[in-house]
Amino acid sequence: MPDWLPISALTANPDSVNPVNQRIVLLGPPASGKGTQAERLADCFFIPHVSTGALLRSECSRGTLLGQEADGWTSKGLLVPDELAVRIVTAWMKENGPRFIFDGFPRTVGQAEYLDSSLAELRTGLDLIVLLELPDEMICRRILERISCLKCGATFSTSLHGNQEGAPCPRCGALLVRRNDDTEEALDQRLEVYRDLTLPVVGYYEKTSPNLLHRIDAGEGSNAIFAKLSALVAYKKDEA
Ligand SMILES: [Zn+2]
Repeated sequence: MPDWLPISALTANPDSVNPVNQRIVLLGPPASGKGTQAERLADCFFIPHVSTGALLRSECSRGTLLGQEADGWTSKGLLVPDELAVRIVTAWMKENGPRFIFDGFPRTVGQAEYLDSSLAELRTGLDLIVLLELPDEMICRRILERISCLKCGATFSTSLHGNQEGAPCPRCGALLVRRNDDTEEALDQRLEVYRDLTLPVVGYYEKTSPNLLHRIDAGEGSNAIFAKLSALVAYKKDEA
C-alpha cells in the first residue's frame, strides 16, 4: 500500500472498491466517450476528474500568477505552451495530492514529457494509461448524430436515444441543440489535431510505459467500457 494513500480513501465508502491505480490518463479521439467514462470512474472510485481546461479557466478567473501568464497566450487566441499547461496541473497536484483522472491530457508529447518529470519531482508516476479506440467512421457517425444540452452538458444520440434537436433535455428540460463544432468540417479539423498531436502521445507511452498502457474498444456500449476500465483501475499490479 503506498504510504500517501489517505485514510479517508479507505473508509469513505466501504462498498466501493479501493482503487489501486490512482493516477490515470484517459486518451481517445473525439466522441470516444472519455469524458463520460472519466466522470463515472471519479464517482465510483473517489478519484478527482481533472479537466485541464477547467483548471486553466479557474487560474485565469482567480487572477493568479499562473492565470495571468496563461492569459497572455489565450487572450491572443493562442494555446498555452506545454510547459505552462503542466505547471498549472502540477500546482493543482501540490494542493490536492497526486490522485487524478486526466481526460484528454496530456494532449501533446511535450506535455507528456513535462508531466513525467513533474511527477518524478513529486516522487510518483502514472499508474494507468488507457486509450479508448474508435474508427474514424464511427467517430463521424457519433458526432454527426450528437445533440447536446448546453445547460447540463448531457449528450444524446438522435439514432440511439431518439432525442431530436429542439426537444427538451430529459435531464434538465433545457433545449437540446447541435453544438457548432459538431459539424463535418469542424470534425475533420479535430481529427487532424488528434492524429498530429495526441496519437504521438500514445506512441510516447508505448515506448516509455508499455506496461501501463491499455487499449479498449470504444465502439462497445458505455457500460461494457466502464466495466473494463474499473477492472483496470482496481487491478493490483503486485498480484499479477
Ligand atoms: Zn440538460
